[in-house]
Amino acid sequence: MTLYYPDLTIEKLTGVGPKIGAKLNRLGIETLGDLIFYFPRCYEDYTKITPIGEIPKFLDRGFIDTSTSDFRNSFTVRCTLRGIANKKTRRRGFTVTEGVATDESGSLKVVWFNQPFLVKMLHPGSSLILHGKVSYDRFSNDYVMESPNRATKPKIVPIYPVTAGLSTYYIAKLIEGIKSQIKEIEDYLPANILSKNELPDLKTALLNIHLPESSDLLDKARRRLAFEELFFISLESNLTKAQVAQEMAPKIKIDLDKIKKFIALLPYELTGDQKKAVWQILKDIEQDRPMNRLLNGDVGSGKTVVALIATYAAVLSGYRVAVMAPTEILAKQHYGIFCKLLGQEEVSVGLMTANSKEYQEPNIKDQKQISKTKIIQTKPEQAQIVIGTQALLQKKVNLENLGLVIVDEQHRFGVEQRKALKDQRSNIKYQKDEPIIKNVPTSNFGRNADLSLSKIQLPTSALVPHFLSMTATPIPRTLHLALFGDLDFTVIKEKPANRKEIKTRFVEPINREKAYSFIRRQIEAGRQAFVICPLIEEDLEVIARKDMTKQSLEDRHAAPAMTAQGLFEQDRKSVVKEYEKLQKVVFPDLKIGMLHGKMKSKEKDEIMGQFSSGRLDILVSTSVVEVGVDIPNASVMMIEDAERFGLAQIHQFRGRVGRGEHQSFCFLFSNSIGDKVMERLQSLEAISDGFKLAEIDLKMRGPGAVFGTEQSGMLDLKMADFSDTMLIEEAAEAAKEVSGKIEQYPHLKEKLAKIQSARHLE
Ligand code: ADP
Ligand code: MG
Repeated sequence: MTLYYPDLTIEKLTGVGPKIGAKLNRLGIETLGDLIFYFPRCYEDYTKITPIGEIPKFLDRGFIDTSTSDFRNSFTVRCTLRGIANKKTRRRGFTVTEGVATDESGSLKVVWFNQPFLVKMLHPGSSLILHGKVSYDRFSNDYVMESPNRATKPKIVPIYPVTAGLSTYYIAKLIEGIKSQIKEIEDYLPANILSKNELPDLKTALLNIHLPESSDLLDKARRRLAFEELFFISLESNLTKAQVAQEMAPKIKIDLDKIKKFIALLPYELTGDQKKAVWQILKDIEQDRPMNRLLNGDVGSGKTVVALIATYAAVLSGYRVAVMAPTEILAKQHYGIFCKLLGQEEVSVGLMTANSKEYQEPNIKDQKQISKTKIIQTKPEQAQIVIGTQALLQKKVNLENLGLVIVDEQHRFGVEQRKALKDQRSNIKYQKDEPIIKNVPTSNFGRNADLSLSKIQLPTSALVPHFLSMTATPIPRTLHLALFGDLDFTVIKEKPANRKEIKTRFVEPINREKAYSFIRRQIEAGRQAFVICPLIEEDLEVIARKDMTKQSLEDRHAAPAMTAQGLFEQDRKSVVKEYEKLQKVVFPDLKIGMLHGKMKSKEKDEIMGQFSSGRLDILVSTSVVEVGVDIPNASVMMIEDAERFGLAQIHQFRGRVGRGEHQSFCFLFSNSIGDKVMERLQSLEAISDGFKLAEIDLKMRGPGAVFGTEQSGMLDLKMADFSDTMLIEEAAEAAKEVSGKIEQYPHLKEKLAKIQSARHLE
């Protein structure tokens, strides 16, 4: 009997030595277990045989084989080879091997390049399977199959992602050699879940993912492995949720009268959805179990004021509130809004960012309004409301008496930060005998703080604060189920009534000048414009450098493609170049600013400040302005290389304009001419519902497009596909079922621990 040792070092495997071992390591394969879970990138299906005589018909119809995405016009034929010979070419050191493949229906010329040894290997007259791209050759006035792969019998061949000097065939061979070990693998999914969802067991799935017996069994294998991937994500969420439900949170006493008065004093009436969201949150934070809620509302739906009211409620009840934003620009903007809207209340607000030294006064026109609100500069963490960036997590600040944590644009934080935030939340403990607010003179807090000191009854056990996260990324239901199962959801669909639709147009390159004169007229009428580019100059350099190193690493076949992409990137609009072009050539008389993520935060603030106060007419920027920045006077959003962004992301950009009373416009540019690109971008002209756009993104480009690429880590699924609603729901249900009784499934528990520790090492 063979035994399965998942932790066996890959070098020790028969046929692998230190040299090949090192190459496998480069692919992330260090152990036998890693190899078994190293899945093919795609397959070549040699079971679908096309009679040679029918190939021209397919090609005449513009046939594209979609089953193997990177092999366009590929066919599999079962044939005998004749007349195989090496031909000399004019280029020295270059050989072409030619032959003719025939079956009953016809014949086809076949060529291989630089593989002269094939003449000795392929015996004329013997039957074999060939799979390759067929194209029309103008010179010979005939069809030709180029460099086909060979097999002796019809089968589905796995294609693995490879590295230099290690072929996909070699990996397939290694796997063939460990079949008996794979058969020993025990399943970690409970048997009842397998049978209920009609899934094959683990070893059957693994054998078929590597060595598919049929396309049907391959599909089942894929489904099982995708299922378990989603299942484990969901299981973790369920366990987190269960764990959070065990914890105690401070009961926040809601002073309805004061809150109502405060809402009545706001400069606008809340929308129905805003009221509902506020109500739901207030009901949550009244409980002694921690709230764990995601507020999901389209750009401009007015989430900030909802957060503000919740904050106000918590502060009234004597608790401290932390508000975190993903960028400094946004943190400062929140700070300004909070100070302004809380102007009549006696509360203290502090701002804390990575560069607290560069502190500036909030940009509020009417300073008198904030007469009562105390702005805490020196020790922002001692304010009742602490607003900041990730600095709130990183600096090990101890925010005492924390009742509520609000995170804006939470998906922008990576997985690790999300985790850190969770840890931070559970680290915040309330010591029974300590005063609730240390080191802070009560005078700084006015009467609310006094109230807090006298009235709060602390339970003896540790408390965790309530948690509200907000995002403008419309998260389709399936994604929310799959990724954020631990959070309760509130959706704001309704927009404030005064909003005008933002007129969106896809602009053909020939109409670029017209767009520029349109922008000029808008600026002459007193408006401002954004120009968004996908790259900054530095990105271009990095890409160029990467190309050069790639070239030495990757094998010769891959190198030209990389370089081609590199050249292609050179055509991309960069903020730096576009800024120069606009300032020097297009609008020499206008004031133009530039903004990107590599700038110092002080510079960024300066530029942002100039733009928001109207001293700049045009702001050329990368996606850093994407989240949350509020400039009511801006009316034009122009997006270069728009195909580089997800629809939901563009929708976010577009949400940067149309925030005031002016009719606003969004222009999309793209040098890509593909029909798909056009169609995708044009859907923005007709659809203004962010949730719908996110669904389209998800279907067409996967979750990376919905969340932006930085998030790919969290969405890096090997097998599963977020558009498979059915499977997501089945996996979520199964996870829910076992999460309460995980102790009954030791194998499952062990696997989960492995997944978690592997992620921790990444
Ligand atoms: P987001 O949900 O994208 O964070 P914001 O909270 O920034 O949106 O709100 C967008 C703009 O709408 C802000 O200028 C805000 O003052 C305004 N606003 C919010 N709620 C209302 C409302 N009920 N009526 C009118 N304007 C509102
Ligand atoms: Mg916002």
